[in-house]
Amino acid sequence: MPLNIVETTHKKAKPESEKIPFGRTFTDHMFVMDYEAGKGWHEPRIIPYEPLTLDPAAMIFHYGQTVFEGLKAYRTDDDRVLLFRPEKNFERLNLSSQRLSIPSIDEEEVLGYLKELVELEKDWVPAFEGTSLYVRPFIIATEPSLAVAPSKSYKLMIILSPVGPYFSGGIKPVTINVEDQFTRAVKGGTGMAKTAGNYSSGYQAQAKAAEEGNADVLWLDGVEKRYIEEVGSMNIFFKIDGEIVTPALSGSILQGITRMSILELLRKWEIPVTERRISIEELYQAYEDGKLEEAFGTGTAAVISPVGELNWLGKKMVINNHEIGSLSQELYDTITGIQRGRKEDVHGWTVEI
Ligand code: PMP
Repeated sequence: MPLNIVETTHKKAKPESEKIPFGRTFTDHMFVMDYEAGKGWHEPRIIPYEPLTLDPAAMIFHYGQTVFEGLKAYRTDDDRVLLFRPEKNFERLNLSSQRLSIPSIDEEEVLGYLKELVELEKDWVPAFEGTSLYVRPFIIATEPSLAVAPSKSYKLMIILSPVGPYFSGGIKPVTINVEDQFTRAVKGGTGMAKTAGNYSSGYQAQAKAAEEGNADVLWLDGVEKRYIEEVGSMNIFFKIDGEIVTPALSGSILQGITRMSILELLRKWEIPVTERRISIEELYQAYEDGKLEEAFGTGTAAVISPVGELNWLGKKMVINNHEIGSLSQELYDTITGIQRGRKEDVHGWTVEI
């Protein structure tokens, strides 16, 4: 479909240092495309960034029919701009949409529009160490109706936001609370979809964890409160007695693109890794036996976030003496090296703009 581009006449000031608060600054333009039953997705356009006008009855406001994605564009030392496995994000957007009864998009076509948007906003990709341009595609239900049924119209939008480093100077071990009361997701629910309600329903547990000095929450399965699932917005890996273990994709956790990339790297490096069910009791036992060598979260935001401490029912697991483990550091250096064009992209993971 022909892409219509309307350029702004009022360009905004760009960040002047790496101290950019997450998700508060937006670029000059955004991508929009509409869907109507019978007509399909139509009118792809790039227009100046501006507020939306929506009917108060628009279905997004009432029953939460919405999905989103998160990826980043990185500036390399030699001034190129790279996206990291963006096709995987559009693939996952369609998986999420399917779960929320939202019509699917043509992944390749929308990736083409994203490339055009990033090309237009190239100067917004910051060059300071550890910074990037966060890309947020999302779909909302727009039909004005209070009927409890899938909307007949939608808007797909992509907005861009320059972001600072997650931790200045690289990675830093975090303290995480193992949540024993609240549930994030259950099998058959929406846990594997990237949809708004999965996040807002976690805020209470986040607040409780923060009150006790934890940076994040580790979720357990919703039925037995036993099996480890994932962190707030990261998948989780453990190194137990030389072997890497990560929870299998059970249907209630998000299939992270960083997780997928780390599994591919570990297999290439011939480091033993298994995706399986792992209970919190098993983890605690490994800790008591001195076999819990490393733990780290994985996600687009921090890439690798070593876990220095886990708190579970008043028990404290201090991992690797609160220090960055050698595997965590190697994985972080490899993935950020590929993203920044400092290491050869032998996997073909990056897409140049
Ligand atoms: N789990 C959840 C719930 C998330 O929101 C994210 C961030 N998208 C992740 C895991 C990690 O996914 P990715 O590696 O694709 O960023």
